[in-house]
Amino acid sequence: MKEFVKSLRHPSPLPRCFQWLRQLLPPLCWQCKKVLGGRTFLEPSSPFLCSNCLLELPWTDQDYHCRQCGKHTAEPNRLRCQECIEDIWELDETRSVLAYDDIVRHWILQLKFYGKEHLSPLLGRLLALSFQNSNWLEKYDILIPIPLHSSRLRKRGFNQSLLLAYYFKKNLGKFAPELQTHWLRRIRATRPQTELPLAERLVNMDDAFETSLEVQNHQILLLDDVMTTGSTLNAAARCLKEAGASSVGALVLGRKMWDSFEDRFPDT
Ligand SMILES: [Zn+2]
Ligand SMILES: [Zn+2]
Repeated sequence: MKEFVKSLRHPSPLPRCFQWLRQLLPPLCWQCKKVLGGRTFLEPSSPFLCSNCLLELPWTDQDYHCRQCGKHTAEPNRLRCQECIEDIWELDETRSVLAYDDIVRHWILQLKFYGKEHLSPLLGRLLALSFQNSNWLEKYDILIPIPLHSSRLRKRGFNQSLLLAYYFKKNLGKFAPELQTHWLRRIRATRPQTELPLAERLVNMDDAFETSLEVQNHQILLLDDVMTTGSTLNAAARCLKEAGASSVGALVLGRKMWDSFEDRFPDT
């Protein structure tokens, strides 16, 4: 619980005189600095985007993606792409909101490695916006953000996936699945998958997670900031299913489309 509270820590408030000045200034688009209407904000201190910048984001076209791994497909409504037919994926389905391209990558790196926690309300809201007029979430009753190992949490000071899950849920209100932060734990510190050659990725995530029996018979939605190789999410899904979860899906803000065969998730 202590870690949960710590990772939800909000950035320090602005000094009182700046808060007063800020109230006098109109809110600006986080991207192009155009003046926004006051109602654009969930919270007055949260950055957000104008409608033009929102439209220009690389939104994922849900019809042209493999339902299981989230990879772009040439034909619409593919349940499994060729790679998913050849591999064994533990995730039942994957939904990405944005392609992990320049701007999305920049935001996520700023949030994770440059301490820009104030981006999390914006990113959590973008996650929620993609579910307007969609009943995709209804099948899930539990939302679990991918946990960090305690050593990385100490170093970073917050878990970016938990912050995203918190603001995602805050925007969706009663339509969001129940947030559970203690059902899945990271028990082994692992090196980032992107730093590792293919062969080492195979074993890097082995036994990285542990879970509790509370997951039994639940439909669980894992949430992560970005999906590159997919091995972290698959390892978490494997752990949850072994403990009795009935289904496990993944929701990610940014999805890196595979560039080559070596980039694909190689299941073991
Ligand atoms: Zn703008
Ligand atoms: Zn696929």
